[in-house]
Amino acid sequence: MNVTVSVIKADVGSVGGHTQPSDELLAAVRERVEAERGKLLIDTRVFYCGDDISILMTHDRPLGDEAIHRLAWEAFRAGTDVAQRQGLYGAGQDLLKDAFSGNMRGLGPQVAELRLKERPNESLMILAADKTEPGAFNLPLYLAFADPMYSPGLLLSEDLHAGFRFRIMDVEHTDGDRIIELEAPERLYDIAALLRDTHRYVIASIWSRKYPDEQAAAVSTTRLRQIAGRYVGKDDPVAIVRVQKIFPATEELGPPFAIGAFVAGDTRGSHNLPLLPVPVNTPASTFFCHPMVTALGFSMRDGVLTGPVDLFADPVWEPIRHQIVRKAMEMRRQGFFQPAMLPISELEYGGIVARLRRLDDEFRVVADAS
Ligand SMILES: [Mg+2]
Repeated sequence: MNVTVSVIKADVGSVGGHTQPSDELLAAVRERVEAERGKLLIDTRVFYCGDDISILMTHDRPLGDEAIHRLAWEAFRAGTDVAQRQGLYGAGQDLLKDAFSGNMRGLGPQVAELRLKERPNESLMILAADKTEPGAFNLPLYLAFADPMYSPGLLLSEDLHAGFRFRIMDVEHTDGDRIIELEAPERLYDIAALLRDTHRYVIASIWSRKYPDEQAAAVSTTRLRQIAGRYVGKDDPVAIVRVQKIFPATEELGPPFAIGAFVAGDTRGSHNLPLLPVPVNTPASTFFCHPMVTALGFSMRDGVLTGPVDLFADPVWEPIRHQIVRKAMEMRRQGFFQPAMLPISELEYGGIVARLRRLDDEFRVVADAS
């Protein structure tokens, strides 16, 4: 059976600052999508990571389907109405346009979609991040799909031996989004050279090379700043990752997240802190809006989901979290000095840019700077 899995995510308001959606807001979103279970949708789940609500939907519609995207839009609109009524912070923040226009693209919410021919034991992982940037999944996915130090399946399984094909998007090119396709392991250094720049190059999807029709992963690539032409929020990605058998195992996806790699985001979207794996429905941290990621595991049969299993909730993640938080605290000790604060080219807030422009007028050229 062919099934489409769609994850659409938006921040439409949170309680007392950038924290988490209210119960009432969440209920309004859930009520709208669940009314379509057994109709437009086969199955659905609604959850949050920090202030971002993710709507997971399985259905038989194609990728980018208008009815599916409209449903998510309406659900987020319903949530926005509640947020406005309750005076929540950032009500409707990620809905950048007033009206829906056929597809979520350019409207603000993050979208990851994948159409698959269901395996008898289809296993999925849904990743959702908050307080970070579109490339936050670059390193974990690179390690899980291309590095045998993290993914022994690349050595142990004939199905993985041929490696994977990475579709990487350039989200900052002036002529619009560009895509490059590179195959691991042959082009490993080229892949690494791009993915290290998490602001600009983002994994859009990953494909099996042994089974070229089999897509392993889909990642949202929208950059809100590009859409709006100004700072409107953080570009927190979502991803769908198929696991087991011809793909890396669920437990091979975990350790790359234990690194707690530094990513941009945090307070005012203007700093670097390590990405912290947290249980689902965790509020954003008052410790400087620490970047965070949740992972949910599902089984699927005929599009019907079983689960989730909360993949960062088991006890092993407690000491890992302590380690990553210590790393964050060290970085915070140097306050606004780079690289704790982002370089000027990446700063989302205009204040410091305006300040530097004014200071520029006070500089004078001297023949001998000494
Ligand atoms: Mg957010």
